[in-house]
Amino acid sequence: MKFKKFGSKWVVSINIGEEVVETLKKFCEDNKIKLGTINGIGAVKKATIGFYNLETKKYYPKELDGDYEITSLLGNISTMNGEVYLHLHINLADSNYNTLGGHLNSAVIGGVGEFIIEEIEGEIERGFNEDVGLNLLFQ
Ligand code: FE
Repeated sequence: MKFKKFGSKWVVSINIGEEVVETLKKFCEDNKIKLGTINGIGAVKKATIGFYNLETKKYYPKELDGDYEITSLLGNISTMNGEVYLHLHINLADSNYNTLGGHLNSAVIGGVGEFIIEEIEGEIERGFNEDVGLNLLFQ
């Protein structure tokens, strides 16, 4: 992983074989980024995405194996119990140009991973909301 900082923005490159969610979380922890936005493009060779069912209040994961373009990764940074908490969503395109998308659980970089993080000065602590069954920014 390599990065450069410009003002409140960080340009981050994640290498082939590195896992995106863990790498970005550690990056935010190391650089004390507690609130902000993330966007990214690149390619993965493996990913697990999820769909949240409001009725069962459960995530249903889908594992993808093979090469996919990251046509869009969007997310935010906050904290929960004082720890960095990333909420990331992703769209992935296959070799037939079809896209799949969802909540991002994990993804391993294939070709490249190019991310831009914009830090917001401040802090928002997530909390669990029982009605929705999720950790929300504002309960
Ligand atoms: Fe989500």
